[in-house]
Amino acid sequence: MNDGLFGSDWNPATVMNTTNAVYIIASVLFILGMKRLAHPSTARRGNQMAAVAMLMAVVVTLIDRQIVQVPWIIIGVIVGAAIGLTLARRVQMTAMPQLVAVFNGFGGAASALVASAELVRETDRVDDVAAVTIMASTIIGGVTLTGSFIAFGKLQGFVASRPVLLPGRNYINAVLLAAAIAIAIFLVFEPDTLAAFAVMGIIALALGVLLVIPVGGADMPVVVALLNSYSGLAAAATGFVLGNNMLIIAGSLVGASGLILTRIMTKAMNRSLANVMLGGFGVEDGGGAAAGGAVEQRPVRSVSAEDVALVLSYARSVIVVPGYGLAVAQAQHAVRELADELKGRGTSVKYAIHPVAGRMPGHMNVLLAEANVPYDELKDLDEINSEFDRTDVAIVIGANDVTNPAARTDPASPIFGMPILNVDNANAVVVLKRSMASGFAGVENELFFLEKTMMFFGDARASVEGLVREVKAL
Ligand code: NDP
Repeated sequence: MNDGLFGSDWNPATVMNTTNAVYIIASVLFILGMKRLAHPSTARRGNQMAAVAMLMAVVVTLIDRQIVQVPWIIIGVIVGAAIGLTLARRVQMTAMPQLVAVFNGFGGAASALVASAELVRETDRVDDVAAVTIMASTIIGGVTLTGSFIAFGKLQGFVASRPVLLPGRNYINAVLLAAAIAIAIFLVFEPDTLAAFAVMGIIALALGVLLVIPVGGADMPVVVALLNSYSGLAAAATGFVLGNNMLIIAGSLVGASGLILTRIMTKAMNRSLANVMLGGFGVEDGGGAAAGGAVEQRPVRSVSAEDVALVLSYARSVIVVPGYGLAVAQAQHAVRELADELKGRGTSVKYAIHPVAGRMPGHMNVLLAEANVPYDELKDLDEINSEFDRTDVAIVIGANDVTNPAARTDPASPIFGMPILNVDNANAVVVLKRSMASGFAGVENELFFLEKTMMFFGDARASVEGLVREVKAL
């Protein structure tokens, strides 16, 4: 124990009031920050508000509980900020889901470890309510830890991206979950049976692995969003264990928002959460891009930059449809340049944003915002879909699944029912991609074989830069 920032002379009531006042301010900042994340123009400020709130919450907790001395807090803040800054600067936008997965894993581990430490420390004195929350935090935190690291491995390529379907896996998971809950109930009455507690922890860790391995790489961002929600629940449970209101509020916010995000993503894919979590999606088709993608042999109309520039020069309306390939190629600045050039010639240019284009929610909005594309030109699926049949040219840049008409027409397709951008309704379609490889769902795209479709093969960035040159030369 030390005297902390408040010093030994401080009245405990004053310290508690100060701490709670800071917690309330931090909670309000979290909520306002989250609200601002909902729009690209305010998202940056929202993120900063939440970061400040987190710093306040961490620092005041460390001081209040007199856990460490102020110099150590400052050193911790500096070291943590340096690690966070390096990671954030280095990570590619396309690798963001991996980073979030790792953060979730650490969040789950922290909650489980704090709850476990509390059980070990207070074995004789732990009451029923605390015991229940300790067990909840340990089970959810354990599942989140290993589940998140498997998700990270699948996204990063360390673990096979294909769904791993063990025979009877759903029964195994159900039995393990029932066993973990049974041990948890036993531990509420006999909290000093630490061996049983260890077994429960190991089962939770195994469950995390088993729940995530059957899910294919394409669905991993949904799993990451769900695990994000779990990490929030584990933190909230730990908040109850420690009697810390800040942790309860922050954990609940993460738990609820992660669940809402999961729902938005599954809805945009027209899948149920159970369908995603039970796994196996895309297996018959070879697992999509992760497995190298299916390559179609039918003839397509392949065109050059010059051909596309000519088509664009006659167009009065153009809709740009960005997808994962735009992110991979980092083509956003070139796309903005092309749009500026076309707009300068009197052509209307809009962007059609599918909710699951790319590999994470809001992926396209973030990329296009980086290139200063005006927000009012970005149109959501519902807003833009009726406009395609009044549009001269749809330029599909590195998008595939989100434009696949099979989602509307082929009940046998794995993506049947997923809302898609109706680019095939435009007068002409230009598709920019490198090859005939499928997208992440691993399914063939009929759009590429339509008479009105022109395939412009190449890396998206080089292709768009070539287009800009050709359009300028016209
Ligand atoms: P897709 O994964 O369907 O297709 C991307 C296409 O980009 C590929 O066909 C690839 O073709 C092309 N590509 C890759 N690299 C380049 C490059 N350097 N230059 C040009 N083209 C390139 O992407 P979509 O955005 O259309 O769809 C997203 C998919 O991800 C959906 O299936 C969605 O359900 C899934 N998903 C999305 C989530 C999200 O939150 N956004 C979450 C979970 C899943 P080629 O190799 O021939 O170049």
